[in-house]
Amino acid sequence: MESIATENNVWQMTLARLDETMSLLDLKPGMRKYLREPRKVLEVAVTVKMDSGDIDTFKGFRIQHNTNRGPAKGGIRYHPEVNVDEIKALAMLMTWKCAVVGIPFGGSKGGIVVDPKKLSTRELENLTRRYTFEIIDSIGPEKDIPAPDVGTNSQIMAWIMDTYSMNKGYAVPGVVTGKPIALGGSQGREEATGRGVVYTILSALKISGIDSTDLKVAMQGFGNVGSNAAKILHDLGFKIVALSDVEGAIYNPKGIDPYKVLDHLKKVGTVYGYREAQNIAREKIFSLNCDILIPAALENQIKKTNADKIKARFIAEGANAPTTPQADKILISNGKFIIPDILCNAGGVTVSYFEWVQGNDAYFWSKRKVNLALRDIMEKAFYEVYKISKSRKVDMRTAANLLGIGRVAEAVRLRGIYP
Ligand code: NAD
Repeated sequence: MESIATENNVWQMTLARLDETMSLLDLKPGMRKYLREPRKVLEVAVTVKMDSGDIDTFKGFRIQHNTNRGPAKGGIRYHPEVNVDEIKALAMLMTWKCAVVGIPFGGSKGGIVVDPKKLSTRELENLTRRYTFEIIDSIGPEKDIPAPDVGTNSQIMAWIMDTYSMNKGYAVPGVVTGKPIALGGSQGREEATGRGVVYTILSALKISGIDSTDLKVAMQGFGNVGSNAAKILHDLGFKIVALSDVEGAIYNPKGIDPYKVLDHLKKVGTVYGYREAQNIAREKIFSLNCDILIPAALENQIKKTNADKIKARFIAEGANAPTTPQADKILISNGKFIIPDILCNAGGVTVSYFEWVQGNDAYFWSKRKVNLALRDIMEKAFYEVYKISKSRKVDMRTAANLLGIGRVAEAVRLRGIYP
């Protein structure tokens, strides 16, 4: 029997899914070994001048998994539990994700072991600039392009862009995506991941013959992905019955207005304690009566210990790797429809791709154009994955992996191995 420790290791679980898909694709042993290995793993010490006058040192990573289909692309995470296995797994998932939505990028990820909430703005800027300096030879618009992830935002991207540009001697906006609009960011990037999540939910409802938005939604995590998905779903008429963040969860079967929760969050720093809902334990978010469950926090949240309690018929993975393979088996046997992470949350990297294209062309699109192009890509990818799931008689996650990993293997074959 697999231990809890194995279930908690996102790298092992990502490798297990890769191995399973490579067997289905009948890839040769050499290709299998190649796809399992990240191309570059960089670990750096990030030393920061603190407000106290002393210095502190934090561990940072930048990992590129694959660059066969284009420059590496992936977010930067600031979180106390960041570790090399997590970043390796997230970099690999980025490779498959970019291939699933057909955008010309490989996969990477970075992170610093830090709780950003405990730093002042000045310390956060010092940390970001020093980290950028330490990884500067590895990143660049043609090499590896960071973006926001958990604990980072557009201001942090602006500091990365400035540090990189000052070292080059000229402005290089294309070194990051998710920048502020004033620095060449894209309209719609801030909400793109949440919007993409919603587009995949609408597609899943369509193929399931559900022509109504009179449905209940529960959501874990109310950051960039969760709050934007909640606002768009609310605007479309869905009922958000529960929300949670790291501090706690709130529930109201009559519906919660996410805009009002955001006002509350701005004042007190958490969704917990919002007056027009009842406070509930964080873990309860998974067992509530609802139609759609959106994990939008961190990995390994839906496990074999709670998978059986899920009542929602649809699970839309806003977060990366929120479901363990052990939980997958339970969910599938309970007839759940899972929209897997590498499809569901690909809206963020898709609009990052638009940002990169707009920056390269020095021609900027309207929000309407961004959202229409995003919808096009998300729907196309959803139906491609769904078609594979039907033709190969596999679940949606396996189908997404077959599409993404298959495309990367084809790119490796076509390019050949240098020298
Ligand atoms: P964020 O930092 O903006 O928000 C994270 C949210 O999760 C916060 O509300 C936090 O309080 C909450 N949270 C953390 N631990 C929790 C717990 N144990 N229980 C409940 N809530 C908890 O991060 P984000 O950018 O919204 O990213 C969320 C997820 O989506 C991550 O898995 C990330 O990799 C993934 N993702 C993000 C993007 C993006 O564009 N930001 C794109 C693709 C995927």
